[in-house]
Amino acid sequence: MVGSFLLWMVAMWLAAQTPRPVIAVGGISHESNSFNPSRTTLADFTRRTPGPPDLEKLASGHDTLAGIIAGAHAAGLELHPTLFASATPKGPVTAEAFEKLTAELVARIAAAPRLDGVILDLHGAMVSERYPHADAEIVRRVRGAVGPRLPIVVIHDFHANISDEIVSACNALLTYKENPHTDTRERGEQAARIMAAAVTGRARPVQALVKPPMIYNIVYQNTRRPPLAPIVEETRRLEQSPKILAASVAGGYQYADVEAMGPSVVVVADGDAELAQRESRRLADMLWATRHQLVLKLPDAAEAVRQAIAADRWPIALMDLGDNIGGGSAGDSTFLLAELLRQGARGWVVTLYDPEAVQAAARGGVGSVFDGAVGGKTDRFHGEPVRVRGRVKSLHDGFFFEPEVRHGGGRYFSQGLTAVIAVDESMPEQPSLLVLNSRRTSPNSLHQLISLGIYPERQKILVVKGAIAPRAAYEPIARRIIEVDTPGLTAVNPARFTYTRVRRQLFGLN
Ligand SMILES: [Zn+2]
Repeated sequence: MVGSFLLWMVAMWLAAQTPRPVIAVGGISHESNSFNPSRTTLADFTRRTPGPPDLEKLASGHDTLAGIIAGAHAAGLELHPTLFASATPKGPVTAEAFEKLTAELVARIAAAPRLDGVILDLHGAMVSERYPHADAEIVRRVRGAVGPRLPIVVIHDFHANISDEIVSACNALLTYKENPHTDTRERGEQAARIMAAAVTGRARPVQALVKPPMIYNIVYQNTRRPPLAPIVEETRRLEQSPKILAASVAGGYQYADVEAMGPSVVVVADGDAELAQRESRRLADMLWATRHQLVLKLPDAAEAVRQAIAADRWPIALMDLGDNIGGGSAGDSTFLLAELLRQGARGWVVTLYDPEAVQAAARGGVGSVFDGAVGGKTDRFHGEPVRVRGRVKSLHDGFFFEPEVRHGGGRYFSQGLTAVIAVDESMPEQPSLLVLNSRRTSPNSLHQLISLGIYPERQKILVVKGAIAPRAAYEPIARRIIEVDTPGLTAVNPARFTYTRVRRQLFGLN
C-alpha cells in the first residue's frame, strides 16, 4: 500500500517536472480585394499582443483564438501568444505594412524561450503589394525561423484562396467550415487538438490540396443551404474517422485576381498521404458536380426596391452585394439609397460610411436640420453622393457588443462616431433612417443598429451591405432576404472584372 502510494507520488512528481509542449500562436489576417485601388496600411490594422495572463479572459469568446486557448488547455499545451493583427477587408496590403507586421510576428515567435510548434491564424486571401499570396509568404518566413522539423498548423477563413505553396510550407491546414463563420471557436479547438497529436507523436499529419477548376460564386457560398450544405456535412462525417485529422472545403474569394483564386479542398490524414489525396479529390469532385446549379439571376436595385415596397410582411433585408464591406468594398454605395428615395419607400434603414457627413451632423447637434450630400465619396465604383434632408435624431460613440455567436465570433465592435438622421418621420413608429458612421463596419450584428436606438425588426426595409456573413444576424428577424445585383467592388457577376492572373479555364469565369 505504502509502496504504491510512493510510486504514485513519484509519478506525479515526474509529471510535474515534464514541461508541457510550448506552442506559439499568432497571425496576420486580411482579405484583400485586388480590384480595390485603395491600399490597406499599417494604420488600418488592429494589433493585439496579449500576454499569457490575458489568455484566460480571451478563452471565453467565440473566435478562433478563444478556441485555440480552450483546446490548448484541454490538450495540455502551453501557449506562447505573439502578434494578432487584422484589418477590415479593403485593397491590397502595402509592402511596408506587410514587412513590419510579418517581421514582428516572426520575431515574437523566435523570442519564445522554448518552442514545440506554431499555430498561425491567417485569413488566406491576403494580397500585398509585393506578394499575391501573402499568407504563403508569412508561413514560408515562419518556417524559415523555426526550421523544418517543428509542426506548423494553419487556420484559414472559409474564403481562403489556397495554394500548393502554403500547404507544403505547413504540416496541417484547416479552414472554417461555415459561412456565415459561426464555427470559428470550434476550428481553433480542432487546430489545438491536431497540434497536440503532432507534438506528442500520436499523429503524423500529412495533407493534400485539390482545387476544382471553377469559381464558386459568393452568392452560393451559404454553407447552410444546398449546394454547399451536403458537401460541408461530408467533411464533418469524414472527420469522425480517426485517420482524418481535418477535412476542409474553402469557397475561395473571387475578388482577388491571383493564381490561387477559387475553391479548395484540403484533407489532413494521419500518416496516410494516399488517403488524404483520395478524399480531397472526392470532395473536389462533389464541388465540381454542383457547377451547373451556380446560375446568377438576381434583381437590380430598382426591381429589388419595388419588391420590398410591395411586400406585406416585414422587415425585408436588401443585400447590397456590390457594396459588401466584408468583401472589401467602400461601404458608402448609394445605388439602393437613391432608389429608395426615387420610389418613395418608407420605413427604411440605410447605413453609410461617411465620416465627413457625421462631422457635419455632429456640428449641428441633435435636433438640427441635416441637409447634405452623403455617400459615394470613397471611389468611383459606388454611385454618386445623394442629397438628403432630415433631422439629426441622435449621435453615438459607435461602440456595440454582440453577445451571440455571429459571423467571425467577434464580440466588441466600434463603428466610430455615428449619427442617425431621420429622413422621414411621417410614420413615427416606422421612420426612414439614415445611419452615418465613421468606420467601415461589416453589418454582422443587429446591435450595430440596436445600440443606436433602432429596432430593426420593426422597420420595413433594411439595406445590408454584405452577402452571406450578415445572414447569421439578419435571418432571425428578416421575413425575406433579397440579394441585389448592385454594381461595386464586390459585384457578384465576375464578368464585371478583368482577371489576368487567375488560372486559365475556370468554370464560371472564362
Ligand atoms: Zn470569410
